[in-house]
Amino acid sequence: MAYTEDRSTWFEGQGLWQHVPESDWKDWVWQLKNRITTIDQLEKYMVLTTEERRGIAFAGSKLALAITPYFFNLIDRNDPNCPIRLQLIPREGESITSQEEMLDSLGEDEHSPVPGLVHRYPDRVLFLVTDRCASYCRYCTRSRLVSNAQDYNFHPEYEQGLRYIESHPEIRDVLLSGGDPLLLSDKKLEHLISRLRAIKHVEFIRIGSRIPVFLPQRITPALCEIFKKYGPIWMSIHVNHPKEATAELKDACERLSFAGVPLGNQSVLLRGVNDDAEVMKALVHRLLRMRVRPYYLYQMDLITGGSHFKVDVRKGIEIIQALRGHTTGYAVPQYVIDAPGGGGKVPVNPEYVEKITDEEIVFHNYEGRQFRYPLKSTPVAAAGEPIRVNAKAGAAVAHDDVAGACDI
Ligand code: SF4
Repeated sequence: MAYTEDRSTWFEGQGLWQHVPESDWKDWVWQLKNRITTIDQLEKYMVLTTEERRGIAFAGSKLALAITPYFFNLIDRNDPNCPIRLQLIPREGESITSQEEMLDSLGEDEHSPVPGLVHRYPDRVLFLVTDRCASYCRYCTRSRLVSNAQDYNFHPEYEQGLRYIESHPEIRDVLLSGGDPLLLSDKKLEHLISRLRAIKHVEFIRIGSRIPVFLPQRITPALCEIFKKYGPIWMSIHVNHPKEATAELKDACERLSFAGVPLGNQSVLLRGVNDDAEVMKALVHRLLRMRVRPYYLYQMDLITGGSHFKVDVRKGIEIIQALRGHTTGYAVPQYVIDAPGGGGKVPVNPEYVEKITDEEIVFHNYEGRQFRYPLKSTPVAAAGEPIRVNAKAGAAVAHDDVAGACDI
């Protein structure tokens, strides 16, 4: 299916919930209270496959089932392979654990000096402030703790976390995550952000959230005022497929942008969802139109029960190759593997460099054409002689899509 960039084709409206007053529909608390969380609720709206029924039976002990009415509208109920359906409705594959998979695939627990705080890199911390989300992604890296289906009993200690950050002057960057930090009340969120902002050595505050995608109604004017007051607060949202780019999400992103929140997107490469260059291209184009810079494309972490989502890394590289040079540079995310066990994000890129010597670097461009860039300067005139311009210099890069540093 082609996903056009025409805004009129982006999903909008109340879909299956036409009978609900608009004021309820636009109320994020109503959306949360009316989430689909059981098999009976799901079966009111759709016919489930055997694989899904088995997955749902298992979900209670792995990662809860929850879908906001808003996001449920994006599911194609007649297509078992709908990319939204695959992300949100549990399948039997979740009960199959492969040898290489881990509960804590990024080794976060062993770098946690206080509950909810992960301090792996000297200058940055990850502050997990809740274990709840508006909807649950079946491939979640933190499924060990998110939704508490596995009895992890996660209890973030805000005060201890804040005091730890206050007493470590090397921490300049704090990422609020979870679960989803935007599920906290405005009051709690403002408390956390204002305390962080008051710490002199904390220069950079960012939030990782899928709330704009699952629950755009949560991006209220009051919330935006908090971001404005303590800004800049950077935010990474999480959109995996162009269908998720709805009119509501676009409006929510605009509200955030106008409140001074720089937006980036993190996608996870998922089998059957976005492991296709055309789908990814449509997604990154829609993101730019929503004022969101595609930031990371993640190779899926090795979480237990995730192998049915796993994509061959070569496919990911092929997707990046299909974007780089073929569309706006801003639209190309960095493809990374978060090293298993906790080695940090490592870029996995298509190879363009063919050779580097003391004299030159030899490389090819997105079309496969070869170029050479000399590393040594060879003057065309001896010192004191008039300078002649070599008209041919740089001719090799004369192409519509290639421009000077300020023109791209
Ligand atoms: S929103 Fe994020 S934390 Fe929550 S289930 Fe999805 S991936 Fe996990």
